[in-house]
Amino acid sequence: MSTAILVINCGSSSIKYALVSSGQEQRIHGLAENLNSEHARIKGITVGGEPLELSIPNANHEQALDILLKRLGQYQPQAIGHRVVHGGTLTKAERLTPEIVQRIKDATPLAPLHNPAHLIGIEATMRLFPNLPQVAVFDTAFHQTMPEHAYRYAVPKFLYTDHNVRRYGFHGTSHAYVSSHKKGGWLSAHLGNGSSTCAIYNGKSVDTSMGLTPHEGIVMGTRSGDVDPSLHSFLAYNLGWDIYKIDKMLTHQSGLYGLSNNLSNDMRTLIEASQQGNDDATLAIEVFCYRLAKSLSALSCSLPTLDGLIFTGGIGENSAYIREKMLTYLHHFSFKLDQQKNNELPRGTQGQIDAGQGPEIWVIPTDEEGRIAQETHQIALMDI
Ligand code: ADP
Repeated sequence: MSTAILVINCGSSSIKYALVSSGQEQRIHGLAENLNSEHARIKGITVGGEPLELSIPNANHEQALDILLKRLGQYQPQAIGHRVVHGGTLTKAERLTPEIVQRIKDATPLAPLHNPAHLIGIEATMRLFPNLPQVAVFDTAFHQTMPEHAYRYAVPKFLYTDHNVRRYGFHGTSHAYVSSHKKGGWLSAHLGNGSSTCAIYNGKSVDTSMGLTPHEGIVMGTRSGDVDPSLHSFLAYNLGWDIYKIDKMLTHQSGLYGLSNNLSNDMRTLIEASQQGNDDATLAIEVFCYRLAKSLSALSCSLPTLDGLIFTGGIGENSAYIREKMLTYLHHFSFKLDQQKNNELPRGTQGQIDAGQGPEIWVIPTDEEGRIAQETHQIALMDI
C-alpha cells in the first residue's frame, strides 16, 4: 500500500475502520466494538489477510485507534476520512478545521445519535495524529443540490428559517457512488437495514426519500418510514404514550420487523418464512416492495427524463426476488426486466439486468468506504 487512507465511522461504542490504498486495489477493514466496556475488542482482518481478534478491555475510542494504528506497522495512513452522518447545509466533503468541527457540532440536534459519536472519533484522531490531514465526508452533502421545492416541508416558515427544519436526505455517499458515471435521469434504490431512494439528474441529487432525519421515506429493517404525522397524537391521546415511547416504537420496532409481527428485520429470514407460508412475512415483503415502487414513482416527477434505475445495498444487490417483485409495480414506466440476467447475476457483482428496451436497470454494489477514501484523497492530498 503506497498511499493509504484510513476511513473511520464512529458510533457511540464502536469504530468501523478500513485502510484503503490510493488505487483502491488493496484494503483491510474491521470493527472495534463494545468500547468503554470490559468486552471491548477489535475484529477484522490483518494486512496479510489473516483474521484478527483482539481483546482490549475497557479501551475507549482513542485507545482503540492507537492500538489499531500500531498494529498496522509499516502500513500507516497518509490521511484520515471520517464518515459523518449530518453536515447540516455543508455541500461537500471538507478538510477538518476548528470551523468545520463546529459546524458538525451545530448539526448535532439534527442527528443526536450520530454526530456526537463522530465527534468523539474526530477529537481522538486529532489528538493522536495532529499532523495527518483529516476530512469529514457527510451523508447529507450529496443532497444539497435538491431544489427548495423538494427540500422544504409545508410547515410554518420560521421552523425552517430559525430552526433548520427541512429535508436533508441521507445515504448520499452511496447514491453518489452508484450513479457517478450515469448521464441523464436516474432513480437509485439503496436497500439495506436503512433504505432510501434518490432521483439523480446528470450526477446531482434532485430529490430523495429521507428527510430531516433518516426516518422519512420507505420501509426499513426496524424503521417505519412515512406514517401519518397524526399517528403521534393518536397514540398519545388513545394509548397515553409519550414521545420517547412513540419514537422508540417507530425507530426500533417497526418496518419489516413490526410488519412481520416481530419475526425479523432481516429480508433473508422473511423471504424464507414467506416461502414456508408465514403470512406476516409475506405481507411485510409486499408492503416493502409496494412502498418502494411508490417512492420511486413519486421521485420520478423530479426528472426531465427517466433513463434508468439502480439497485444497491444488501437487499438491492443480493435479492433478485425483491428486484423482480418491486418492478411488477412499475410496469407503466416501461421497465423490462431480463429475468435470466436478474436471477443469474452473481452476488456482489455489477450488472445490467434489463431486456434492452425501456429505461436501463442496473445492480451496482455500493462502496461507501471506497468513496470516502477517494474524496479524502482528493481533498487532503491533491488540493494542497
Ligand atoms: P446496512 O444498512 O446495515 O449496511 P446491508 O446493506 O448490509 O445493511 O443490508 C442488510 C440487508 O440485506 C438485510 O435485510 C439482509 O437480509 C439483506 N440481504 C443480504 N443478502 C440477501 C439476500 N441474498 N437476499 C435477500 N436479502 C438479503
